[in-house]
Amino acid sequence: MLLITRFLYTRAMKEKGIKQSVSVSGITLHKGELATLRLHPLESGKGIIFYKSGIEIPLNYKNVVDTTMATTIGFNGVTIHTIEHLMSAIYASGIKNLLIELDANEPPILDGSGLDFCHLIKSAGIVETEHNKKIINIKKEIKVNNGNRYVSISPSLNNNFFIDSVIYFPNKVIGEQHFSLEVNSKNYLNEIAPARTFGFFSEFEYLKSKGLALGANYNNVIVVGDNEILNTTLRFENEFVRHKILDVIGDLSILGYDIVGNYKSFASSHALNYALIKAILSDSENFIIE
Ligand SMILES: [Zn+2]
Repeated sequence: MLLITRFLYTRAMKEKGIKQSVSVSGITLHKGELATLRLHPLESGKGIIFYKSGIEIPLNYKNVVDTTMATTIGFNGVTIHTIEHLMSAIYASGIKNLLIELDANEPPILDGSGLDFCHLIKSAGIVETEHNKKIINIKKEIKVNNGNRYVSISPSLNNNFFIDSVIYFPNKVIGEQHFSLEVNSKNYLNEIAPARTFGFFSEFEYLKSKGLALGANYNNVIVVGDNEILNTTLRFENEFVRHKILDVIGDLSILGYDIVGNYKSFASSHALNYALIKAILSDSENFIIE
């Protein structure tokens, strides 16, 4: 029994990659363009690299260039928007070496959740590499806020990545929602990946005037009206807060490591999650890389 346990433990500690290239096409959320996303295997130690127009953009917090409405990375004049749903699914799969090729400046939004990205990654075949995976283990409580909105991370007592999230919107359909869970691949697939992005019908015209949400439609966004959802049936009663957690996982994946820590938030945003990453990394006493 001890041997089996040890064997499983050792197996769980390896970095993962994909076996073969796979692709998916679809419309992008903000620009409304047709995009093809291709995932290619990358050798161990290379990390996660986005590739567009001949430019490689390593996934690194230093390459985050915007966090308004979505997380955007960029390098040498090329930017990729709205990476968080794809990155969330990649984090949950344990994959740490991957080339992400795009022919547009956003991944396709697909159904607005992380589910199709999970299926795409699975279809590529997940393989273990020779290298042990690295973990960022949080050693101090770190909190960033904007008014009463905050995100924080503190040391884990259970040696895991746990998220406890609350959202509040002054809207009858959403109101206050709370959800918490341990982040692992099984929980992610069952509880988080299916949760879709959402938007308020009353804000669409404004967003479109700003060049955002141009690809949003009734098949890729939960459209929230003043009193009801206008286009779909919810997959979970609290699908909205679950989607926020999906975003958190994608945003924090930019740390580049598996995370051991307790994340807590009220009304999290991409900007606050990015501020948290910078706060964590600003002091080497905040964490240990194992
Ligand atoms: Zn999202």
